[in-house]
Amino acid sequence: MNVGIIRCDSHSVSCPAAGCLEAVREKNASFSSYPEVKLVGLDTCGGCDRGKADKITGKAERLKELGADAIHLGNCMVGPCPYKDTFSQAIEEVGLEVVHGTH
Ligand code: SF4
Repeated sequence: MNVGIIRCDSHSVSCPAAGCLEAVREKNASFSSYPEVKLVGLDTCGGCDRGKADKITGKAERLKELGADAIHLGNCMVGPCPYKDTFSQAIEEVGLEVVHGTH
């Protein structure tokens, strides 16, 4: 499975994504069900921006161009983000599977 990860822009200031990257590398947690996993890209939501989905749609489209079949939303995003449902729908409309969580 080719995956992209999108995480919280605010959290990315202080988080080096070590937990997300380790989960991909070790193929555990949210990636454990895939026979194979390849990370095609890691990006952020682009910021709150009043919950508009334009930025995240563009980012999902770019990850799709890079070969992603699914987008994993980082734990930092699926827990606290007030816009996660809006963003999930926008990513699905790009034609990508959305998985909530990474590690
Ligand atoms: S929109 Fe959600 S994921 Fe993005 S910076 Fe704001 S709280 Fe974080």
